[in-house]
Amino acid sequence: MREEAERLEVALDREAAERLLAFREALLDEAARVNLTSVRDPEKVREIHLLDSLAGVRALPDDARRIVDVGTGGGLPGIPLALARPEARVTLVEATRRKVEACRRIVARLGLAGRVAIVWARAEEVGQGGGRESFDVAVVRAVAALPVAMELALPLVAPGGRAVFWKGPAAEEGDELGRGERAAALLGGGRIWVDRYRLPATGARRMLVVAEKARSTPAGYPRRPGVPSKRPLA
Ligand code: SAH
Repeated sequence: MREEAERLEVALDREAAERLLAFREALLDEAARVNLTSVRDPEKVREIHLLDSLAGVRALPDDARRIVDVGTGGGLPGIPLALARPEARVTLVEATRRKVEACRRIVARLGLAGRVAIVWARAEEVGQGGGRESFDVAVVRAVAALPVAMELALPLVAPGGRAVFWKGPAAEEGDELGRGERAAALLGGGRIWVDRYRLPATGARRMLVVAEKARSTPAGYPRRPGVPSKRPLA
């Protein structure tokens, strides 16, 4: 585990590696009851979920203390990031109640309740409420196309922070990146860049799209729950 993380240029201490394996066990136990992942093979979970989530550490500034995971499902990538960054406080946002309850059990089992908060809400509500511009970093994995994900994530980030999106290589084929950039510009986003990597065991190509939050998001964004995906900004 530590060696593979190393290949992603992510440093992991022994304790974090052990707790990641405990997270995998908890995730697989919950996945038997709630639809959190279709991947059930522990080796595949390590590669596709744990290591892919950990790759995000590459995009976290060293001083990131407040991280929000938008559409966390079973705690991905938020819980692996919390384990890799013990000084950070992570908030998991999830709209589906059964997944929120599964996350609560997983977080309790890992003894992370003091540092990982779980919010049952739509990201659009959090972005117009108490979570607006109150995080250093927002992370989003497998939730929506970039222009939609930008509207869910960027309003949560304080100016000077950033949003990080997990994407496959297909995002570079169409105009998803360009659309993401145009949406970000409306939301207070600044510079955007791509960080490509390969999963250690399979060599599968992945990338992180990183968007800086340059200035405050205009008051009208995010729009009402459901509108970002129904009428994407770009
Ligand atoms: N990030 C996880 C889960 C991906 S599935 C992973 O990488 O495995 C997408 C999840 O996002 C679902 O659980 C869905 O309920 C949640 N979601 C989608 N739109 C949302 C929104 N607007 N606010 C909060 N959660 C949302």
